[in-house]
Amino acid sequence: MVAATMTAVMTHGPRDYRVEEIPVPEPGPGELLIEVGAVGICASDMKCFLGGELFWGKDGRSGYVEGPCVAGHEYAGRVVSLGDGAGEAHGVAVGDRVVAEQIVPCGECRFCRRNQYWMCQVHNIFGFKRHLNGGMARYNLFPAKALVHKVPDSLSDGQAAYIEPLACAWHAVDRGEIQPGDTVVICGVGNIGLCMLQVAKLQLGGTGRLIALDTKPYRLELATKFGADETIDVTKGDAVDRVRALTDGYGCDVYVEASGNPAGVVQGLQMIRKLGTFVEFSVFNEPATVNWTIIGDTKELNIHGSHLGPFCYPKTIQALADGSVDVAPLLADSYPLDQFARAMEASLSGDVLKNLVVPV
Ligand SMILES: [Zn+2]
Ligand SMILES: [Zn+2]
Repeated sequence: MVAATMTAVMTHGPRDYRVEEIPVPEPGPGELLIEVGAVGICASDMKCFLGGELFWGKDGRSGYVEGPCVAGHEYAGRVVSLGDGAGEAHGVAVGDRVVAEQIVPCGECRFCRRNQYWMCQVHNIFGFKRHLNGGMARYNLFPAKALVHKVPDSLSDGQAAYIEPLACAWHAVDRGEIQPGDTVVICGVGNIGLCMLQVAKLQLGGTGRLIALDTKPYRLELATKFGADETIDVTKGDAVDRVRALTDGYGCDVYVEASGNPAGVVQGLQMIRKLGTFVEFSVFNEPATVNWTIIGDTKELNIHGSHLGPFCYPKTIQALADGSVDVAPLLADSYPLDQFARAMEASLSGDVLKNLVVPV
């Protein structure tokens, strides 16, 4: 029996997330109701909580959030009830463990029609819209257009909550178009960066060189554990000189920006070789300013953006299941959902990687 109400973390505004009792939704045609396992708190949740302009707007421009809604986009769960036709449409049954891709494509815009669904013009992402509640509640509704994947029972709730960020990391690394023997720099080895590192390692297949940059020693230690050949604390010494010295003066082949710090962009453009590929993944709270000549006349760079984790969910789930990517060392603490404020505070400290919120 599914209860009539549930406790949820609702986004009302910057620094105004409230634990409230809300009705449990009923699945309509094609929809699934899932019972949530655990929900990860990610950097975008933190930037949203703190009032980032991407989320709440600035100077009269509206932001992405249309709340209040249930927060959280990193979670998986178990199917507890099915709307009409939902089992056939999504290939699932009650009791199956499932995850939905974070974006629910409209299916009608030019991007969706061209199978570029992750850039859907409407852009509905779980946990940011009034009509698309996220996972920080006991139950969550997957709409008919959700992209649903099965999750093996062997994964812990924490690992399952990691499918979304790992899929994002995987897509970013794919955008780097890594070749055997490349020197790859990952700038910013937080949750996503440490996943990127592991995916890049898989793609290099024992060739080349992997370099991690960060400002926090505990993260650089984890990077070494996950196979970084070199780690550089960018607060100590000149990272650009170090990378050039390691590459006969040429610079790295691929640079992935995952730090969210504008300085990471400037530094990357300096340490990348001519004709290299620069992947921009992170979200900035302020503009990154650089002389663009370096992109064209000086180095003829490939600048590749990266957003979400399109087509990456199946391989991500497989990698977690077979252990080729390990997120267990990244998981920090689990907090009951009504302790959301504490969980957010601990995440904002930057002293831990992935905190989880568990429905009550
Ligand atoms: Zn996230
Ligand atoms: Zn669309």
